[in-house]
Amino acid sequence: MQKGEDKFAQVVIPSPLKEPLTYAIPPLLTGALKIGMRVSVPLGQRKVTGVVVDTLSETSLQQVREIVAILDERPILDHSLLQLIRWVSQYYLAPLGEVLTTILPPSLRTEGQRFLYCRPGEFPIGRGIERKIFEEVKKKGGRTNLKSLARGFPGGGLYRALNRLVAMGAVEIRERPVKGGGKKIAEPPRDREEPSHISDRPSLTPEQQGAFDVIQERIGKGGFETFLLYGVTGSGKTEVYLRAVTAVRKAHKRSLVLLPEISLTPQLLDRVQERFPGKVGVLHSALTASERWAQWWQILAGDVDVVVGARSAVFAPAPDLGLIVVDEEHDTSYKQEDGLRYHARDLAVVRGKLMGCPVILGSATPSIESFENCRQGRYRLIELSQRVEQRALPPVEVVDLRQELRGEGRETRSKGTDVGRGALPFSFFSPRLREALQENLARGYQSLLFLNRRGFANFLQCRLCGFVLRCAHCSVSMTFHLSQRVVYCHHCGSRRPASDCCPECGKLTLSGIGFGTEQIEQELHRMLSGARITRMDRDTTSKRGSQERLIRQWGRGEIDVLVGTQMITKGHDVTGVTLVGAILADLSLNLPDFRAVERTFQLLSQVAGRAGRGNEPGRVIIQTYAPDHYAFPHVISHDYKGFFASEIEFRRALNYPPFSRLVHLRLEGSRPEEVEAKAKRLGEELRIRRQQNAVFQEKIEILGPAPAPITKLRGRYRWQILLKGKSGMSLLEFAGQARAILPRSRSARLYIDVDPYNML
Ligand code: ADP
Ligand code: ZN
Repeated sequence: MQKGEDKFAQVVIPSPLKEPLTYAIPPLLTGALKIGMRVSVPLGQRKVTGVVVDTLSETSLQQVREIVAILDERPILDHSLLQLIRWVSQYYLAPLGEVLTTILPPSLRTEGQRFLYCRPGEFPIGRGIERKIFEEVKKKGGRTNLKSLARGFPGGGLYRALNRLVAMGAVEIRERPVKGGGKKIAEPPRDREEPSHISDRPSLTPEQQGAFDVIQERIGKGGFETFLLYGVTGSGKTEVYLRAVTAVRKAHKRSLVLLPEISLTPQLLDRVQERFPGKVGVLHSALTASERWAQWWQILAGDVDVVVGARSAVFAPAPDLGLIVVDEEHDTSYKQEDGLRYHARDLAVVRGKLMGCPVILGSATPSIESFENCRQGRYRLIELSQRVEQRALPPVEVVDLRQELRGEGRETRSKGTDVGRGALPFSFFSPRLREALQENLARGYQSLLFLNRRGFANFLQCRLCGFVLRCAHCSVSMTFHLSQRVVYCHHCGSRRPASDCCPECGKLTLSGIGFGTEQIEQELHRMLSGARITRMDRDTTSKRGSQERLIRQWGRGEIDVLVGTQMITKGHDVTGVTLVGAILADLSLNLPDFRAVERTFQLLSQVAGRAGRGNEPGRVIIQTYAPDHYAFPHVISHDYKGFFASEIEFRRALNYPPFSRLVHLRLEGSRPEEVEAKAKRLGEELRIRRQQNAVFQEKIEILGPAPAPITKLRGRYRWQILLKGKSGMSLLEFAGQARAILPRSRSARLYIDVDPYNML
């Protein structure tokens, strides 16, 4: 990929420009400049950092400015990553510069912390600026920060001179992590020889062995293939990943392991680190900038064999990738929901294809899309149908809340004089769940309670005039949180003190309606006195590291009852858990989203899968007002395939993915009339273009424009258009026109979401 003689370079800079910019390569830099390196280039009056994505022998452009300096000693993005960036830019209809901004750690986008070192020896340094620089660095003890050096040389020419000094070997430029917080994440290499851990490795079950054999064969032969490892909860998928990573290491290649949220599954990271001590790099959003920075360079340098990370790690610069694993591939946290809206699982498959290496997608509840891909022969299905050591999957009981709670009112309404106190005799626990909880506690086992809603009461309503307290910035009601006595918008985070005085009629009649995890926790304390009860949701885990701390306490058995939102449903493997309760399954079932049922099935099956992982069998109790829903029989019988068979027919009938592709266009702005007018204009223009093109007419459907379900968010009004396409190609081509129709404007911004997951 190195085209040494080329005179021009195409440089992508962090900006919304669609195309790379062309710069001339000064003769001094030819030879040294390689595709994938960062360079400093002039842009207007400024100097900016960009990445060279290609070189050219000629250009038709009249005036081409020169590259000022090369910022790297070797490429920081290899050929396949550059290809991936282009692919992402085309598929997600995003400018290359935006993609680059997303994938590089923030400190790499600028010159960050770069240090200059004098090297020993004699060099033919002239007497001009080079000599001055060299002396300056010497004066500072042979090492200085590039930024402070630049202050001493305000005129031009510094970078050019530096490049000459570097070229003659007199100085060296190195990247150093910024000061402070530079705690090491990868643990230090231990000097014992590595396969000494063999005793820690369980021998594989026949099913695991079968799965591993198939994957190993592909690793041996080389080349791209996607496997869907569909294994019930507790079937030992992780062990299969670890063996595959070992096989890839033996072939001197590197592996990338993606997890939904690292802080929620610290055990998995532990297991990888135990198996490959000192050889694991970690990338996720909870790292500080300098930690992230340090990890990124270690990975780029090839110092680690395994990279474990959350969604953004799909862009990790690991050289010689030989395997990509996506654990819990169905998890929606793989979808990035702001900025560049990509799906890391889908990109993992694309990256594997570009790299020519196998990809393993693992799940007990695969996404409908991935399972359909197996049926279509695009992915290869591998099954683990049994839990290890013949442990049974827990029996699941569905409790009909209409029966159990008849006559007690659908949801709680606390007494008006005090918004939080004095809940009615109503209980969120059916007698069956209550007895099971008491019994489980008495036997000394752990119970997990899941409710997909946090806070104390859902909203505050006036019992006299019916007024509902809403967020001033969003078109949603505000949730009441008892412990801080505030109402709080779960969308924009704005909050204010709670009071029972109705702002509308002035009476003290405002009271809480509905319930969330906080109220469940309070009720549990009343019901199970002496039990160690902990709540885990976004309110209790806002501090860095608190999620991990809670999950570890849970793992050590220091918590009897853990109540929480979907955070608690993820892959933890705790042997003391024998009871799992879902307080109200209907919450996710009733969302206005075509994936609502799929998500509910996944959440319930995953949370159920936390039970009975030790020697004691587990038990699962699901409470619902809709026990006849088609999802439940499949949850009860742990029958993913049965669920898939029903769900896929529903998708087919309504022409939803995977039978169609979607692109979601959303307009946002602060003036409602303007947003509406622009949305309507966009809709009309799109319809005209559809009319003019036979392919578009046949393949594309335009739904809307319509106000978004959340019509106002953070003070911005929102309208949307949904494009549905039979073919991905023509849909992308069509959707790409939206940007041209509506030029960038500050007052009403257009967001394009390809393969959307959240259309609220
Ligand atoms: P999954 O990810 O499929 O839910 P895990 O990988 O968490 O399952 O494995 C469940 C448990 O079984 C873990 O405690 C793991 O250490 C253990 N395990 C996995 N494979 C084996 C095996 N072959 N023999 C014994 N125990 C195993
Ligand atoms: Zn709000």
